[in-house]
Amino acid sequence: MKYFVLLCDGMSDYRIESLGNKTIIEYANTSNFDFLAKNGKCGFIKTTPDGMYPGSDICNLSIFGYDPTKYYTGRSPIEAASIGINLGEKDFAFRCNFVTLADNYTVMEDFTAHHIDNYSAKRLISKLQDYFSSEGLEFYPGVGYRNLLVIRDAEFNLKTTPPHDIIGKKIDSFIPQGDGSGKINHIMNRAIDILKSENSSANAIWLWGEGRKPSLPNFKDLYGVDGSVIAAVDLIRGIGRLAGLEVIDVPGVTGFIDTNFEGKARYAVESLKNKDYVFVHVEAPDESGHMGRTDLKIQAVENINNIMLPIIIEGLKQFGEFRILITPDHPTPISLRTHAAELVPAIIYGTSVEPDENMFYSEFIKPSFIINEGYKIADFFINSRSI
Ligand SMILES: [Zn+2]
Repeated sequence: MKYFVLLCDGMSDYRIESLGNKTIIEYANTSNFDFLAKNGKCGFIKTTPDGMYPGSDICNLSIFGYDPTKYYTGRSPIEAASIGINLGEKDFAFRCNFVTLADNYTVMEDFTAHHIDNYSAKRLISKLQDYFSSEGLEFYPGVGYRNLLVIRDAEFNLKTTPPHDIIGKKIDSFIPQGDGSGKINHIMNRAIDILKSENSSANAIWLWGEGRKPSLPNFKDLYGVDGSVIAAVDLIRGIGRLAGLEVIDVPGVTGFIDTNFEGKARYAVESLKNKDYVFVHVEAPDESGHMGRTDLKIQAVENINNIMLPIIIEGLKQFGEFRILITPDHPTPISLRTHAAELVPAIIYGTSVEPDENMFYSEFIKPSFIINEGYKIADFFINSRSI
């Protein structure tokens, strides 16, 4: 049996008045999602454990089949793994966003530095590295605005805030607090001075998502299948690497609406010729949600429907026995411009999956299954003899 997971980041939403009180999924052309929903089963997954924040790291860990309450140590150590940084037991990794601050550096205007490109981000990271290397800090470039800072042999107990949660807000009540915050705030303030001469949309850095290295048991040992991961963003690639899955590079992926949707679908189907499981992550709906852009989010969903799903549905037929799981990791509602913790609607379609009464895919499906401990979805999807 072949297993295909299509993770549509932040896709689920609330009903939106300007769309005639429909959700994005209900409004967009989702003919292929609907085909799978009609001929498969729909249900809900609780990807955010009680008391945790619905971050993509936590929610994706759940869909991969790892209990976040047991394995989650922070977002940045996962991203560090994805770019091959070795973290020791005593080391800390931080996410280092390039951001745009407005009103004399008091307001979070944009958490992506207006989607700073890879080339500029890399150049600015090396500038920061030059300055801070005497303090023993290690800056690493990631993708666009998403970069990393590693501090070796350190101890922190901090409260930090994701910058995408404070868009348009004054930053003063969200700067890092707790043990070690003095050092972190010093770095953020110095970075503003260093970036001043650059005339870039990136006029500051924002440090958050800190943690030590997690240790995930091997995916194959847990679920009995060997697999691969396809994703543009370091976070998902890092989970894949820590889980012992192969991370496949697809040309032209961006983590945004201009990504190579077709390439992702083709490479994923191809990967199943020598492995039995693939996890494909699409970031575009989430980014559109953070931007509050209804039009872009509709387009992201329709690109998945029109470009990816035909290739996936057709391509899987060659394998005879297969299952598809399609799910968001969490909602990123347009009205909130950040993540929400509601259960996400999922479709399972394929071999030994009996159709239920759902005719369409939406946030308002009639659930045939409810996975309240979200990480159990992996075992349910892979090892249930029939669904
Ligand atoms: Zn997400």
